[in-house]
Amino acid sequence: MRNPAKGGGSLLTNMSHHCRALVLHCIDFRLGKSIKNFLQEQELLGDADLVSLAGAAKNFVDPLAEPLVMRQIEISKKLHGIREVYLINHTDCGAYGGRDKFASTTAEHNVLAGDLRTAAEMITAKFSDLSVKCWIAHIEGGGHVRYEQVSE
Ligand SMILES: [Zn+2]
Repeated sequence: MRNPAKGGGSLLTNMSHHCRALVLHCIDFRLGKSIKNFLQEQELLGDADLVSLAGAAKNFVDPLAEPLVMRQIEISKKLHGIREVYLINHTDCGAYGGRDKFASTTAEHNVLAGDLRTAAEMITAKFSDLSVKCWIAHIEGGGHVRYEQVSE
C-alpha cells in the first residue's frame, strides 16, 4: 500500500538503482579533475558506473585482461541496467609506452582510436543492445585535458 505522506512509490525506484552508463578510463591521475567535468558535461555524474584500468580500451585487446573488463560491463548491465558504455583512452598513456613511443601525434591517435574501435566492436558483439561511445582525452600543457569524440 502506498503512503503518500512518505513519498509513495519513489522507494521502488530507488531500490532498483539503475544508471545510464558504464565509463571506462585509465588510472592516470592527470585525468583527475577533467574526468569529473567530462562526466558533468555528458550528464553522467551520479548516473554511471566508473571503471578505472591502466590503458582503458587497451585491456580489450589484451587476452589476459579482456575477461576482467568484459565482466565489469556484464555486472554493470545486470545490476544497474546500463544502456551505454563510454570508453576513454588518453594521449601520453604509460600503458601504451607514453607519447615518445610514437613517431607522431597522428600515429599515436591512430593506435588509440584503433583500440577504441576494436573494443567497441567486441562489446557490441557480446551485448548487442549496448551503445558504445569512444573518446580520446588529450593531455595538454598546464594540466589541461581536452576531450575528443572518436567517430565510429
Ligand atoms: Zn593511461
